[in-house]
Amino acid sequence: MSLKWTNSIANTNDIDPTFFNDYKTTVKTLPYEDLLTSYQPNVSYHYNPDASNYHYGVGHPMKPFRLKLTDHLIISYQLYKKMDCYLPRPATKEELLEFHDEDFINFLATITPENSNKYAQLLKKFNIGDDCPVFDGIYDYCKLYAGGSLDATRKLISGMSDIAINWSGGLHHGKKREPSGFCYVNDIVLSILNLLRYYPRVLYIDIDLHHGDGVQEAFYTTDRVMTCSFHKYDGMEFFPGTGNYDEVGIGRGKHYAINVPLRDGIDDDTYVKLFKSIIEPVISTFQPSVIVQQCGADSLGHDRLGRFNLNIKGHGECVKFVKSFGLPMLVVGGGGYTPKNVSRLWCYETSIMNDVQLDNKLPNNLPFRVFFNPDCTLHPNLDGKFENKNNKKYLDSIRIQILENLRFLNGAPSVRMDEIPPDLSKLTEEEEKAIHDLNEEMENEDDRYLKMQKDDIRMGELED
Ligand SMILES: [Zn+2]
Repeated sequence: MSLKWTNSIANTNDIDPTFFNDYKTTVKTLPYEDLLTSYQPNVSYHYNPDASNYHYGVGHPMKPFRLKLTDHLIISYQLYKKMDCYLPRPATKEELLEFHDEDFINFLATITPENSNKYAQLLKKFNIGDDCPVFDGIYDYCKLYAGGSLDATRKLISGMSDIAINWSGGLHHGKKREPSGFCYVNDIVLSILNLLRYYPRVLYIDIDLHHGDGVQEAFYTTDRVMTCSFHKYDGMEFFPGTGNYDEVGIGRGKHYAINVPLRDGIDDDTYVKLFKSIIEPVISTFQPSVIVQQCGADSLGHDRLGRFNLNIKGHGECVKFVKSFGLPMLVVGGGGYTPKNVSRLWCYETSIMNDVQLDNKLPNNLPFRVFFNPDCTLHPNLDGKFENKNNKKYLDSIRIQILENLRFLNGAPSVRMDEIPPDLSKLTEEEEKAIHDLNEEMENEDDRYLKMQKDDIRMGELED
């Protein structure tokens, strides 16, 4: 009787939340349902809340605050009960140097908004400008989001996780010697380099609105990493200007880069069908031992910088399809410039990884729930903004080109183990202990919930 009463209160929206919506009534009712499908992977969630506290500057579309919003949704839906939650340490300088030039990393470590006028030459050299500004704490921010992805790879490699998630990562444009497209260090490249120490072949799948150029470039000459990016392409008219279907890799990497150039307005049905028809043969031919899935949210409809018509379920269906192959996965974020929809998407995709179905109504105990007005649902309608300019003839021709390219592969390549890069630095014993203690604290569910309740908000963060 009392449980039934609690349920009805928790799901009732029009009752004064200040009176009825307290921790003890709502937290006892699970806002999700276990789906109990046959594949039950160990899922881990890697999130350092400090990563959400940085600010690219007034008017800049990239808002790390979206990470806090995502975390709040995940906690409100109580998904932390389904996963191992880790508080990752920042990446070390040595780890960043596994891919990046020392000059560039030294520059990131030195530059501040206060001293930047002294370094005009370097700002030019390192392509610092409107897209990639200098902001307070820029180097710490890089170390935090890269640290999350590297922590996730360590859990995969050690076998502690089958699927490891870092929504603060996925900054796929970062180059060896310079930042690009809101990305400074490239956590994906660093992660793949670490995964290559243990896994013979890595498949990288990118469903951001933009071409995953930084990752493609880093692995363009190797057959051990296949990159596969679905994105809007319009030559130099659309950032970053690369990613046409005929970019296929060079040398030993020839045919190990796949690009799916799309036009404006693609919808769920067309995108998901095309995605499955390409990814299925890619996986069966390349036979990856691990998959890195970039889940950029700017491919959703109504994104501030968006050009597609995808709904959250359509985007999620692609991720669900990749998961269905049962391979180890590193799952990272990426673009996404309408924070409330970014957080909805990444919370939904976290639920997919954990094999649960979430209530469409957002939990009543969600901080900042008011920003999800008027519908307060997980799945607002996001399609229909742009005309779909991807007709059947165009998509068929793209698919045929790509499948032709796959025929050159002749099965999965063997691996020369002498090419495996050296170990990335491990934790010191002291660091291990500090992180262990912190995670113990975080594991106390009440603490985690109460911490979320105390989080503050900077007004204006959620404005598009
Ligand atoms: Zn993007």
